[in-house]
Amino acid sequence: FLGGLLITITLIATSIGLLHGLTLHEFFSLAVALNVAAVPEGLLITMTVILTIGMRRMLKRKALVKNLLAAETLGSVSVVCADKTGTLTQGKLGLTHIVSPTKTYTVTETAQISPTEKKELVKLLQLAVLNNDAQKTESGLIGDPLEIAVIKGAKAIGIEKTEQESTYKRISEIPFSAENKFMATVHKNGGKQQLIIKGAPEAVFNFCNDAKTTEYLKSEAEKLSAQGFRVIALASKDDTQFDIEHLPSNCTPQALLCFSDPLRPEAKKTVTTMQKAGIKVVMVTGDHPATAKAIAQQAGLDVENGNLIHGDDLKAMSDQELKERVLDTTVFARTPPHEKIRIVRAWQSHGKPTAMTGDGINDAPALKAADIGVAQGSGSEIAQSIAGIVLLDDNLATISAAIQEGRIIFDNIRKVIVYFLADGFTEIALVTGALLFGLPIPLLPTQILWINLVSDGLPSMALTAEPGEKGIMDEPPRKKNEPILNMEMKTLIFIIGIVTDIGLFTMYFLMLQWNLHIDHIRTIIFNATAIDSLFYVFATRTLRRSLFSTNIFSNMWLIWAVLISFFIQLMIPFMPIIPEIMHVAHLNFTEWGIIFGLAMIKLFAIELTKLFFRRKKKNGIKL
Ligand code: ADP
Ligand code: MG
Repeated sequence: FLGGLLITITLIATSIGLLHGLTLHEFFSLAVALNVAAVPEGLLITMTVILTIGMRRMLKRKALVKNLLAAETLGSVSVVCADKTGTLTQGKLGLTHIVSPTKTYTVTETAQISPTEKKELVKLLQLAVLNNDAQKTESGLIGDPLEIAVIKGAKAIGIEKTEQESTYKRISEIPFSAENKFMATVHKNGGKQQLIIKGAPEAVFNFCNDAKTTEYLKSEAEKLSAQGFRVIALASKDDTQFDIEHLPSNCTPQALLCFSDPLRPEAKKTVTTMQKAGIKVVMVTGDHPATAKAIAQQAGLDVENGNLIHGDDLKAMSDQELKERVLDTTVFARTPPHEKIRIVRAWQSHGKPTAMTGDGINDAPALKAADIGVAQGSGSEIAQSIAGIVLLDDNLATISAAIQEGRIIFDNIRKVIVYFLADGFTEIALVTGALLFGLPIPLLPTQILWINLVSDGLPSMALTAEPGEKGIMDEPPRKKNEPILNMEMKTLIFIIGIVTDIGLFTMYFLMLQWNLHIDHIRTIIFNATAIDSLFYVFATRTLRRSLFSTNIFSNMWLIWAVLISFFIQLMIPFMPIIPEIMHVAHLNFTEWGIIFGLAMIKLFAIELTKLFFRRKKKNGIKL
C-alpha cells in the first residue's frame, strides 16, 4: 500500500513539478524528499525488535517460540485445542486403586489385607511391572508418567521391576501407540510363555471372552472414570508359544489400574482468562469420556453430554457434520491422534485461527495443519520440531501467557506503525502542498531523514518495549484478516496529519510573506515536525484509554528516549558540520514557544480523536 501511494504521489508531483518548470536540481531534491518521507525507514527494524522482544518475553513465561512470525500469529488465536494429561492436569500420576474381579484395593492402605489378598495384589503388580517401559536411571525413573506410577506403586509392596524381568524375559512386544491404546508383551520363563496386555479397558477386553468379568470391570471403570481417575485394564494369558502378530481372544481379564492425575491448580483460572479473552478452550484427549468429562468440569469447561464427542463417533462423522458440531463441542474423548487434524480443519473452516497441542509422532500432521502447533516440552522430538511453539512446562497457562504476549506484539506493531506513518504523512502532505502552490519545499530531504531516523528513532525503539496494556485479555481475538490499520488508526494518521499540516502550512506561507530567510523558515518547520512526535508518542502508547489516565512512567525507556531526543534536537545548531548539511539556523524563544504550542495542539487533537472513537465503541456503533 505504501509503495503504491509512493508511486502515485511521485507521479503527481512529477507532473506538477514539470508544469511549474522546476530545475533538475530542485526536482531531484523534491523527489528524494518525498521518497524519504513516505518510506518509514525505521519500521522494519522496529518490527523485528518487537517480535524478538516478544519471543524473549514468551520464553521467560516458559513458551519457546520457534519462528518470529509464530509469535505474532499467537495473538490472533481464537481456539485452543488442549490435551488433558499434563496440560490441564499435573501429569504426575499416582497409582491409587487396583480393582480385581473380587476386590478393590486401595494402594496406600495395603497394611491390613489378608495373606490371600496380598498374594493376588502381588500377582497383579508383577504383571503390571513386566508390561512396562519405564526405565531406572541414575537421575531417577524415566518414561511414561503412568508407567512410572505403576513401578512406584509396586515398589511400595516390595516388587522390583528389574527382579521380575530377570525371571520373566521379554521376548516380543507390540509397543504402546495412542492409535491402538494398548501395549502387549510376551515373556518367557523356562518352557512357559506369558502374554500381558495393558491399555484402555475397551481395547484390552477385546482380547478377552469372559463376558461376566469384563462387564463387571467395565462398569467399575465407568464409575472410577466419572470421578476423574485415569483407568487402564490389565489382561494376561499363559501358553507355550505366542505369535505377537495374532493375539488370542481368550485372555484372562485381570484387573483395573486406577490413577489419580489431579487438575493443575491454575487450570480453572486459565480457562476463565481465556474464555474472557474470547478464546474457545477445547479438550482433545485419548482418555475415557467419563474421565475427560470429570476433568473438564473441574477445569470449568461447560460439558454436558451434547458437548462431548467420542472418537468412534468422530470417525464416523462427515467433515460437514463435524464442522457444524465443532462449534459447541468442548471435549473430544478417545480421540485417535490422526483424527485431530480434522478438528483443526473444522475450526479453520469457520475462519478461526486454531492452536492444537500434541506430544506424539502421530500428532505431527495436526500440529502442522494448525495455525499454531503447540508441542509439549515432555513430548517427542518430532512433535517439537514441527510445532510453532514448545511449552517447556506442558502447561495450559503457558499457552494463555503466550497468547497474551502475542497480542501485545500485535498491539506494539500497531503503535509504531501509527507513530511512523503519522509523521511520514505529515511530511508528504507538507512537501506536496508546497508543490501545489508553487512554493519552495518546506523541509529538506536531509531534515526529513533526520526526523525519521534520529528524532523518531529512539522513541520508536522504546515503544518496542511497551508492556502490555491492561484489559488486553478482556477483548475478543482480532479477526483473521483484520488489517493492521483500522479505521481509528487511519483517522489518527490522515485527519490529524492534515489538520497539523494546515497549521504548519499557514505558518510557512505567512513566514514566506514576511520575507524571513528560507533556511530560518525551514528550521522552524523542521523542528515543529520533529518535536511534535516527541509529545504525541505518549498518546500512541494506548488507543484504549486517554493519555491522562495512563501512567506515563510505566515505560521508562520511552521517557529517556524522549528526553534524549529533545536534547539532541535542541543541540543541532551547536553540532559540527550537521547544521551546514541540514541548513539549520538558531531560533529565538518565541519561535520555540510556537513550536511547542503546535505540538501541544496536535497532542490534544489526537486525544480528542481517541475520545471520539472510545465513545463510539462504548455506544456499540460499528465502524
Ligand atoms: P491421553 O494421554 O490424552 O489420555 P493417549 O492417546 O496418550 O491419550 O492414550 C490413550 C489411552 O491409552 C489412555 O487413555 C490409556 O487408556 C491408554 N494408555 C496410555 N498410556 C498407556 C501405556 N503406557 N500403556 C498402556 N495403555 C496406555
Ligand atoms: Mg498420553
